[in-house]
Amino acid sequence: MSRAYNFCAGPAALPTAVLEQAQQEMLDYQGMGLSIMEMSHRDKVFVDIAEKAEQDLRDLMGISDDYAVLFLQGGASTQFAMVPMNLLGAGETADYINTGQWSKKAIKEAARYGNINVAASSEDTNFTTVPPQDTWQLSANPAYVHYCPNETIGGLEYSFIPEVGDTTLVADMSSTILSRPVDVNRFGLIYAGAQKNIGPAGLTLVIVRKDLLGKAGANVPAMLNYQTHADNGSMYNTPPTYAWYLAGLVFEWLKKQGGVANMAEINQRKAEKLYGFIDGSDFYSNPVEVISRSQMNVPFVLGDDRLDKPFLAEADAAGLLNLKGHRSVGGMRASIYNAVPEAAVDALIAFMADFEKRNA
Ligand code: PMP
Repeated sequence: MSRAYNFCAGPAALPTAVLEQAQQEMLDYQGMGLSIMEMSHRDKVFVDIAEKAEQDLRDLMGISDDYAVLFLQGGASTQFAMVPMNLLGAGETADYINTGQWSKKAIKEAARYGNINVAASSEDTNFTTVPPQDTWQLSANPAYVHYCPNETIGGLEYSFIPEVGDTTLVADMSSTILSRPVDVNRFGLIYAGAQKNIGPAGLTLVIVRKDLLGKAGANVPAMLNYQTHADNGSMYNTPPTYAWYLAGLVFEWLKKQGGVANMAEINQRKAEKLYGFIDGSDFYSNPVEVISRSQMNVPFVLGDDRLDKPFLAEADAAGLLNLKGHRSVGGMRASIYNAVPEAAVDALIAFMADFEKRNA
């Protein structure tokens, strides 16, 4: 067996140890004669798996009982709609910060439901900066403030958690969740598609303070109402059982790695190495302001974009996969989530240095 180094932005690399365990347990889960995929979600065996996954996530992130943890479907994109459907009352305004393609999509979707105030935007710098909080034009009494702490496409990450007083802070943490410790108590609601730092696609996590439940209007469908899922342990309908199980294995793996604090140290080292190499080269460059560079998604361009194709082909052949940047940005992007080992970053840097030597 050979596993390449996978720099995909999502669905992203999973820890090999997790896949091995899943493989081993696939056909016959703990002697029951069937796989988890074939089991009722109401079976005590699955309920135990589900509850353990939730508890491990609570331990990893320090999530208190004041919060519900929901295991949903529909991806982070469905949260772009569910957040305003559940938190934006009639006549209220929600504030959004626009720092990239994912913020924009969230704003566009929310605007279907109510008044949206874009309180700050870095579109004028082509999303290479985070607008300093003292420039934000927050509205007088917003229902919530929404931001995207890590913009997966632009490789832009906030170096701070916004200070919004008693206002509900909502974060799309799809590409940064579990990469470093965060104080969950600063947030009213956190959501994340699973397919980067959590598990396979098809599962979406929502962490919501319980006092925010029950605010959805009567016309909100049951499936799109957080209360429904909170009241039913995320089993109002059939949940994505296998993705939930795999997320649980990833949480166990994270605990074994020393938890999120330890991942943060490794992630910082990985990112510093890669940015350090890019900055030290005249051949590669990254346009993002240094303080706001993403630790998870590292976009870079080659001085001559005619070299993009050979770069990608040779990287592929060297077992360095999925380095192509998002179509809206071009160039390259190395996503270096928790499951991408430091050795992968070392191998990428060695390849980049060699490619530069041969093509500069
Ligand atoms: N938000 C962010 C920050 C993302 O990176 C993505 C997916 N790459 C999304 C939202 C959309 O997620 P999904 O595909 O799960 O709907």
